[in-house]
Amino acid sequence: MAEELETDYLVVGAGAAGMAFTDSLLDHCDATITIVDRRHAPGGHWIDAYPYVRLHQPSAFYGVSSVPLGQDALDVAGTNAGYYETAGADEIRAYYANVMLRRFLPSGRVRYFPSSDFLEDGRVVSRLGGQIWKARVRRKVVDTTYLEGAIPATSPPPFQVADGVRCVPAGQITRISERPEGFVIIGAGKTALDACVWLLEQGVLASAIRWIKPREGWWLNRRFQQPHSLLPQSYTGLAIQLEAMAQATSIRDLFARLEDEEFFLRVDPAVPASMFRGAIISEAELRLLRQITDVVRLGHVRRIERDEIVLDEGSVPTSEGMVHVHCASRGLPVRPVRPIYEPERVTVQLFQWGLACYQLATLGVVEATVESDEEKNRLCPPIANWDTDTDYPSAFLAGLTNHRAREGHPALARWATATRLNPLGELALYRDDPLVIDARGRIKRCASAATNNLAKLVGASAA
Ligand SMILES: Cc1cc2nc3c(=O)[nH]c(=O)nc-3n(C[C@H](O)[C@H](O)[C@H](O)COP(=O)(O)OP(=O)(O)OC[C@H]3O[C@@H](n4cnc5c(N)ncnc54)[C@H](O)[C@@H]3O)c2cc1C
Repeated sequence: MAEELETDYLVVGAGAAGMAFTDSLLDHCDATITIVDRRHAPGGHWIDAYPYVRLHQPSAFYGVSSVPLGQDALDVAGTNAGYYETAGADEIRAYYANVMLRRFLPSGRVRYFPSSDFLEDGRVVSRLGGQIWKARVRRKVVDTTYLEGAIPATSPPPFQVADGVRCVPAGQITRISERPEGFVIIGAGKTALDACVWLLEQGVLASAIRWIKPREGWWLNRRFQQPHSLLPQSYTGLAIQLEAMAQATSIRDLFARLEDEEFFLRVDPAVPASMFRGAIISEAELRLLRQITDVVRLGHVRRIERDEIVLDEGSVPTSEGMVHVHCASRGLPVRPVRPIYEPERVTVQLFQWGLACYQLATLGVVEATVESDEEKNRLCPPIANWDTDTDYPSAFLAGLTNHRAREGHPALARWATATRLNPLGELALYRDDPLVIDARGRIKRCASAATNNLAKLVGASAA
């Protein structure tokens, strides 16, 4: 018979979302929490990530609120030189293991079931031991898996691969010991971009890389996503966005204005971009990527034969000496939004434009401190994951609106200024910086025009 597992909250998933939410519950209520994850260690997708992956944002804003990630150092070398450090996969995995071992478990309120599945009927099943527990959840199940992403290491390529073709997931290129004839990078997202940059940094000639891109993407310039001493520059980025939003005549015009200001970047400015997933890159990475000129734009790959790659709109030659690099996983899915807070359930989703961990942690604080589910949903109305350029203005608009609602809640407003995860949380420390004074004036002048115009632009694109 299944043993009973009694808990106030049962959190499904020990990734960034489950960890940030739990951390907030620990600080803001006295509930007991059980965390269940299929993976053998906390960290979610980072457990299986490719070895050369790094956060695309500064470590300063990533993880759980109560435990800092990294040393807040400025990098002096590489493509992130001059900017605050961005943790790699090893550091992130060690971080989450430490949060679990040194903070969550010693609290005496958290139980952790790694290598275990949570089933829809409420059972927790150990993958290796086979033990089964029947969960009795007094408050809520916190589902962090509704928007679980797919990564190349754990999902097969979305195209056929003939026998004899060398096709490896993004991480496997680090294990190649003999120089191949060349590399074919398949994918247009952040993983593909990282694979290209890593190969170039290893000394692979740009001419030995062919890049198959179904779409061109917009990328955020890391210059405007910085903490601490570089925060005034990031705040200038907010002014730049609001001014463009106040003046833009269309969404395309909005992106053009923001590209002129170098807030948004495109690898190839001659190609219209439609993909927008909110990833951040540095201008040094951009310079490397622009060295690759063999770019194939014939849609998605359908199959790879020994001598040709067949795409939606044509084919290109290949050979058995080429390494084909699968960077084509779907990433984060776009699913219909559903209320985040329900009587017996929290379905973790984002509710505004911006970095994820701040929002994930906020959801836990709201759950613990706000009385009714109705009020919680008013403060954090969910939005869909962004995927295309039109998602940026609508996510930004949602953020402007619900930010105001949360500011009217003293406990939440206090938390927002105190948490290290809030990208603008330290702004008061720099209030006298000339950049901050300038940006503050610009924001004041255009904020209401930006909100009104943004609503028009979003309405026009939805019509
Ligand atoms: C390469 C890469 C780089 C990224 N970089 C950044 C970045 O710099 N900044 C940023 O904000 N975001 C980044 N992201 C986005 C990233 O998705 C989030 O930061 C965050 O890590 C997602 O965490 P999560 O907990 O929502 O999901 P996941 O990490 O996917 O965790 C979900 C967990 O749920 C578990 N699970 C699912 N179903 C069950 C079940 N039934 N029973 C038990 N367990 C289950 C899974 O095993 C998994 O471990 C990046 C994503 C990728 C792929």
